[in-house]
Amino acid sequence: MHGANMNPSADPGDGTSTASEAHPRAFLRTLLQPHRRWLHLAWLAGAGAGLATVALAAAVAWSIHLALFGQGTAPAWPWLGAAVLAVLLRHGLQALRDWSGQQLAFAVRADLRQKLIATASRLGPVHLAHRGHSGSWASRYQEQVDALAGYYARYLPALGLTLAVPGLLLAAAFSQDWVAGLLLLLSAPLIPVFMALIGMGSEQIHQAQQERQNRLAGHFLDRIRALDLLRRSLALEAARQDVAEAADDYRRLSMRVLRVAFLSSAVMEFFSAVAIGLVAIYVGFALLGFLEFGPAGELTLFSGLFVLLLAPEYFQPLRQFAQSYHDRAGAIAVGAELAPLLQPPTVTGHPAALRAASGPTLLRLHNVTVRYEPDMQPALSGVELDIARGEQTAVVGPSGSGKSTLLALCAGFVQADSGSVAIATDARPFAWIGQRVHLFHGSLRENLLLGAPEHTPDPELGAAMATAGLRLDDPTLPHGLDTPIGEDSRGLSGGQAQRVAFARALLSGSRLWLLDEPTSALDPQTEDDLLTRLLAHARARDITVLVATHQESVYRRLGRIVRLAEGRLQEDSRV
Ligand code: ADP
Ligand code: MG
Repeated sequence: MHGANMNPSADPGDGTSTASEAHPRAFLRTLLQPHRRWLHLAWLAGAGAGLATVALAAAVAWSIHLALFGQGTAPAWPWLGAAVLAVLLRHGLQALRDWSGQQLAFAVRADLRQKLIATASRLGPVHLAHRGHSGSWASRYQEQVDALAGYYARYLPALGLTLAVPGLLLAAAFSQDWVAGLLLLLSAPLIPVFMALIGMGSEQIHQAQQERQNRLAGHFLDRIRALDLLRRSLALEAARQDVAEAADDYRRLSMRVLRVAFLSSAVMEFFSAVAIGLVAIYVGFALLGFLEFGPAGELTLFSGLFVLLLAPEYFQPLRQFAQSYHDRAGAIAVGAELAPLLQPPTVTGHPAALRAASGPTLLRLHNVTVRYEPDMQPALSGVELDIARGEQTAVVGPSGSGKSTLLALCAGFVQADSGSVAIATDARPFAWIGQRVHLFHGSLRENLLLGAPEHTPDPELGAAMATAGLRLDDPTLPHGLDTPIGEDSRGLSGGQAQRVAFARALLSGSRLWLLDEPTSALDPQTEDDLLTRLLAHARARDITVLVATHQESVYRRLGRIVRLAEGRLQEDSRV
């Protein structure tokens, strides 16, 4: 499931093959569905602007005709007034078209961001990490979603109007002079042919760019995270060069994307200039009387001017389409990247029934097997485990033996492939403390209130902190609960951050605490103090505790030891 259909080169061709949700175009269409009305409004406004253009050309041509040849039979000024009105109408309708396009793009992006967040929270931390690092998730949420803007704001509105508006203008031109109309008609098909040729190349470049951008984001974030380590190992310069090279790589690719975009506009401009020139030559010679064939003899100043004024407008929608064509390539690249992510995860095997256990049992695992990938060794196999309410259990074993998976299973972050998992209703919500605490940028109060019921009063927060062994008048907390703390627990030591996590668990009122190597990053004294407080509190409140650890100093304090080796239960003993 992961990785398998992440390959962005997977069939960007015509929508002939798979009609699956994961297909980038089907994906882009699905996103459009709920907001179609904005697109329809944009099309209507664009078509209206086309009509206004015809009226404008007619009014201008007619007023000039009258001014020169009218001989006072009819004044030209009402027609000039009509021309001004047509200009205003045209601009108003064009603004409406652009505005509806923007609205559409805005709505689609908001939707997509919501979907990404929903997917991320549904996947849960374990699977999330396996669908890309946080850098690529950040890039997905920000740049990639934004890269869709042009597709919805410009490309789709332009797409609908590329045939409609030139068709309208063409009909108007034919009504006056079929030779001029024919000249315009014949020049138009050349453009899509060239656009398609250029577009095919640009799609691939865009996909490569998308992938590279993603990698760059992750690359950079990884190095920022490891800054401390890099500095200590004197590898800062190498890392700097590394990032610079990756960025340069990305720059080169971006320049290629721009080159293609400019090339396509240049092709467009060239052909429209040639066609407009041809029409101008034809009209000029016809008016001078040098042309005898067809309707040339009957060309008047009005019809000649009218056709000439329409000619540049005729190419305008095509030009807009060409300019937005690379928006499409970019959007398809983003679609190819995001569509597989938003697919519901394919759960291998049958997820175990999650029913409420009753009686003294809080958690019951029966013959449980968990596999992350179908063709991989199971992370847990045939595990039998009963956890009673209030029991304090250590899950021990070497790294990779399945401790974290067992905890994630109890938390519902991963599902069993076979066997059954029964969890008492009062085991929800649970509290989770990992090796590294995640603190958010904000005040200590905000961080404590994360899992707590709303409107928990300050004294209660203070009491929880005290139980966790951190007093609010501690000199490291100069503003008490208002002390700002940052991501990665800026301003707090590892032990203090862990105490904040512990206080959070206390405040959440959870009856089940899942602790994944909670003290492995702490010094022995802090560890000792923290564990003593934590276990004593849990014992007093009859809270069930599961601690994954490989440190003897931790597990000899707990009443029960469950030992895992390569995903199998080796020992289950009570002391
Ligand atoms: P421990 O916590 O004891 O170190 P884990 O439960 O983290 O062990 O891992 C058990 C096995 O499952 C390991 O072989 C590990 O590589 C694998 N594993 C853990 N998480 C994932 C994941 N999200 N995707 C694929 N494999 C995983
Ligand atoms: Mg682990």
